[in-house]
Amino acid sequence: MNRPDLDRPTTSVEPSTRTLVITTTSRDETVELGRLIGSLLPAGTIVLLDGDLGAGKTVLTSGLAEGMGCLGPVSSPTFTLLMEHPPGPKGIALYHFDVYRLESVDEFFNLGFDEYLSGDGVCVIEWSSRIRSSLPADCLEIELSMTIPDRPDERVIHLKWPGHEHLLHRLSHEGKETQPC
Ligand code: ADP
Ligand code: MG
Repeated sequence: MNRPDLDRPTTSVEPSTRTLVITTTSRDETVELGRLIGSLLPAGTIVLLDGDLGAGKTVLTSGLAEGMGCLGPVSSPTFTLLMEHPPGPKGIALYHFDVYRLESVDEFFNLGFDEYLSGDGVCVIEWSSRIRSSLPADCLEIELSMTIPDRPDERVIHLKWPGHEHLLHRLSHEGKETQPC
């Protein structure tokens, strides 16, 4: 990351699984990572965010919105299920879902949410594993975890993006330490 006032995250690439692993050590670093990812997202991308409560899914989404230049503050759509962020100068809207409270996959479809998935906006889905079987294979998959109890501000972030590895590699080259495993 290129903000001199922040500790830089460490990154590594696991070629066998094509997974990029990035460790952030503060909320701001996760926002910055989100900004970088957001600046790379093509129209129509579906971003899957998983990880426990408090892992940083919504924080990362706020960075995505900034990187995409979308309008409006990002807050958790836990109760509304969906928050729409209109496009900024880049012309791509962000649809931010939180499907934690959905009773079933069917509810996602009954609410008409699947229409967003085939549109030109970027869809970000928190707790996507609850509906994963109904989502396309080539989504950007991001899993955030809090791994070490005595480092409460550290998050280990795994990213997979089948079919778009070149974009993942661009992300890895932005990090300070890139270590192929
Ligand atoms: P989720 O949406 O996964 O439930 P949130 O993004 O709402 O989680 O909240 C993450 C919380 O963790 C925030 O209070 C944030 O300040 C805190 N935090 C601490 N360290 C980090 C980090 N490295 N990345 C993201 N959030 C962090
Ligand atoms: Mg959240």
